Amino acid sequence: MQTTPPTAPAQNSTTTRTFGGTPTDHMFVAQYAEEKWDNGSTVPFGNLTMSPFALCLHYGQTVFEGMKAYRQADGSVVLFRSADHFNRFNRSLERMAMPPIPREVWDKGLADIVELDHTAIPEEADGSLYIRPFAFATEERLGVKVSEEYHFMVVASPVRSYYANPLNVKIERHFTRAAKGGTGYAKCGGNYGGSLHPTRLARQEGFDQIVWTDARDHAYIEESGTMNVAVVRGSTLITPPTTDTVLDGMTRRSVIAVAPELGLTVEERPIAVQELVDWISAGERVEFFGCGTAAVIAPIGSISVDGTRLECYHGADATMFAIKQKLSDICRGLSPDTFGWLTAMNPR
Ligand SMILES: *Cc1c(COP(=O)(O)O)cnc(C)c1O
Repeated sequence: MQTTPPTAPAQNSTTTRTFGGTPTDHMFVAQYAEEKWDNGSTVPFGNLTMSPFALCLHYGQTVFEGMKAYRQADGSVVLFRSADHFNRFNRSLERMAMPPIPREVWDKGLADIVELDHTAIPEEADGSLYIRPFAFATEERLGVKVSEEYHFMVVASPVRSYYANPLNVKIERHFTRAAKGGTGYAKCGGNYGGSLHPTRLARQEGFDQIVWTDARDHAYIEESGTMNVAVVRGSTLITPPTTDTVLDGMTRRSVIAVAPELGLTVEERPIAVQELVDWISAGERVEFFGCGTAAVIAPIGSISVDGTRLECYHGADATMFAIKQKLSDICRGLSPDTFGWLTAMNPR
């Protein structure tokens, strides 16, 4: 596969209307063949040329990550939880029978993109650089097999806050995102491919997003479109455990880590849909939110369970906004990085 210049000049706008709609000026490309990855190189952002026989187009060996670089108050640039994203990327690759990426290749791809394109980080307080490392199968063949050739790439896009308004979500009790033993814990393209039709149907019914439930009984909350979910009830933060059907989100982990500092007790346990219904119906103040790299914290304004809509609390004093503020302060250097989440990139 070769790269060709883009047909239209890549824009480097700092105002993005849609999430991830604007590429930065560069991209990193490494290739795997004969059982090893090359060192990769960084080139101007542009289109790829590939054979219609490329295996990724047919059998779905594709894996991705989503992470962010932030500009700190002192002007330096940091990556958030890069080592954790690297480890998860390799877990996803293994599940899709794809070869692991060496740490040096990962680090070089991220360092090059941040160094060359950090000026694209929006100045606004909620601005950051969304970075998308991904890999896909490129061997040319129509028969089903494990590909022997791959691309690993890193691209990036300036982003601002995402899902600013409280979401009206549908608790999905028919379709399934992930089943035990499946690929739910891997960040692979196929999981999203399968989620789009149910999500589109929910949108047609007037919902913003789906909250998935367990594949067997549709009785327990799992996660949302691109986010894990959590509930704040009194001084308890409850979030479903990460099993093989729930993606192990870095934002979820970070929420769990900072919650005790905000006076919360954390429970990682299954949340029954019925519990949520009971609490809200009884007039309790229940906060429900999504957490993921793109939105960080996305308030859920209401849930609809089998056609009954129940309101969740999302007033300005909601605990979830304090959690979001805490995470944002750490990423922007306004609060100490006591968990060691940040990697200084020192762009020259
Ligand atoms: C990426 C993703 C998340 C969130 O993970 P983060 O590391 O917090 O961004 C949650 N669920 C799914 C299905 C995802 O793909």
